[in-house]
Amino acid sequence: MRPNEFELLIDGLRSLPGVGKKQAERIAYFLIDQDDIYLKDLINRISQIKNKIHFCKQCNNFAKDELCDICANESRDQTKLCIVSKIEDLYKIEETNSFDGLYFVLNSEIDVKKNQKIDSSIIRHLMNFLKDKNFKEVILATN
Ligand SMILES: [Zn+2]
Repeated sequence: MRPNEFELLIDGLRSLPGVGKKQAERIAYFLIDQDDIYLKDLINRISQIKNKIHFCKQCNNFAKDELCDICANESRDQTKLCIVSKIEDLYKIEETNSFDGLYFVLNSEIDVKKNQKIDSSIIRHLMNFLKDKNFKEVILATN
């Protein structure tokens, strides 16, 4: 029988998206074999996520400063906007090199079947962005 702490680690790892029971066990066995320096560094990186990562005040993407690299890049097409559900969707589109406009990240899913509503503050933020920029083309790239 495995120690309770080990089972708790597996449960914690299973809460991560895309990690099933077998993967959680494999990661847990991997972690138990690592030295303290590795584990402390990993724990530190995870615990810093909320403190060190900031979001663009214009589009909600990851940002080092007030604006993200995309919003700060004046050579991007300022007349096109692509609205995405999540930051990871923005990066998937960026990897295709097929869009050179700006983005807006809703940070929530639009699911008509589940009648999910988006936070009204996000909608206000989006409406202000639309008014400020005067976009000619708006693409809704949500699922
Ligand atoms: Zn931005």
